[in-house]
Amino acid sequence: MPFSPLGLSPALLRALSAKAYPAPTPIQAAAIPVALQGRDVLARAQTGSGKTIAFALPLLQQLENAPTAKPRRLRALVLVPTRELATQVGEEIRSLGAQLAHALKVSIVFGGVSINPQMMRLRGGTDVVVATPGRLLDLVAHNALDLSGVTTLVLDEADRLFDLGFAEELTCILALLPAQRQNLFFSATFPPAVQALAHKLLHDPVRVTVPSEPQTQPDIAQRAICVDAGRRTQLLRHLIQQNHWSRVLVFVATKHAAEMIADKLRKARINAEPFHGELSQGKRTQVLADFKASRLKVVVATDVAARGLDIALLPVVVNYDLPRSALDYTHRIGCTGRAGESGVALSFVSVDSEAHFRLIEKRQQLKLTLEQVEGFEPLQTVGAAPPSTGGIKGKRPSKKDKLRAAAL
Ligand code: AMP
Repeated sequence: MPFSPLGLSPALLRALSAKAYPAPTPIQAAAIPVALQGRDVLARAQTGSGKTIAFALPLLQQLENAPTAKPRRLRALVLVPTRELATQVGEEIRSLGAQLAHALKVSIVFGGVSINPQMMRLRGGTDVVVATPGRLLDLVAHNALDLSGVTTLVLDEADRLFDLGFAEELTCILALLPAQRQNLFFSATFPPAVQALAHKLLHDPVRVTVPSEPQTQPDIAQRAICVDAGRRTQLLRHLIQQNHWSRVLVFVATKHAAEMIADKLRKARINAEPFHGELSQGKRTQVLADFKASRLKVVVATDVAARGLDIALLPVVVNYDLPRSALDYTHRIGCTGRAGESGVALSFVSVDSEAHFRLIEKRQQLKLTLEQVEGFEPLQTVGAAPPSTGGIKGKRPSKKDKLRAAAL
């Protein structure tokens, strides 16, 4: 089905044809017509499903139908959990809106950078704001933004907004919005807190869930490799080199691990950079741009930083450290296999993380065979841990440990 029967304006159809998307994704086909009617929408949608366009187009069409008043008044607010997602979503809205007869001002605001340039850019008003919640409230407190004219509110990745601890900020923001508005609510999962917010926020919403037909499932081959925790970097290096992966996103648990592993890979002449919340915004933007342009082969990232990244044709995601939750697992592997591409998601499992991995598997209704890679067979067999040698749990036995074991 083409985009034309969805009820979109000629300007937006022109913007879409410039992007050369062959047809709406299922979430777009389901959400756009009802959102255009002004209804509230409650959508269950993963990253990679095409959800950004599913809310961006109706939002733009509403603004198009009510041309810009001078001075510009903020009418559409999109809340997102991370800076990177703010940039991605904001740029998508800008590019789709570029064909409209009345030029719209789309402002992207997020924390971690100086507030002053953002305040300067907001002078003279804005039509659309894409924001992370904390910085939005700061800007309101500085009188740089007024939310009282918002007619459309989008919550993107609502589950992640909660995961990242934005519940309080959301409550404050909602209190500043006018009661009469359209709400478009997108989330990959619906834990109780998200359900409660949806219930509070939405008025008679149309529920949109993409049917789980095989063709709508992302094409991601999920694999697990058992390896001793202390040999994961070597294994990673080996896999990157042996498989000639063009680009790899590696997930780790801490910023320290991200720095250390990227450093080790660079020493092995693999072009790698860390990506975590404590890097400057400039550095994060640079790393992301280099990765997207394939100037960088490996990015070693923490969950917070990597959430919502949209990297076209990313063939491999590696869980160097397992994610804390099944939800994070879903988000991580969703970075590959996007929009109809195929991808591989590899998890490293050691004797210490096996129980946690099994839990993730169970929640995901998965059952993966634990593979071994020649030359990297674990000394401590997953599923049958050898008796303690006195070594530290989770670490490869030291020479001393082996001598002690041999003496027993
Ligand atoms: P999202 O779920 O918004 O993060 O979208 C993920 C990716 O899907 C982006 O790279 C979009 O460019 C792409 N995309 C969005 N809509 C379509 C479509 N109708 N056909 C093909 N790709 C799309």
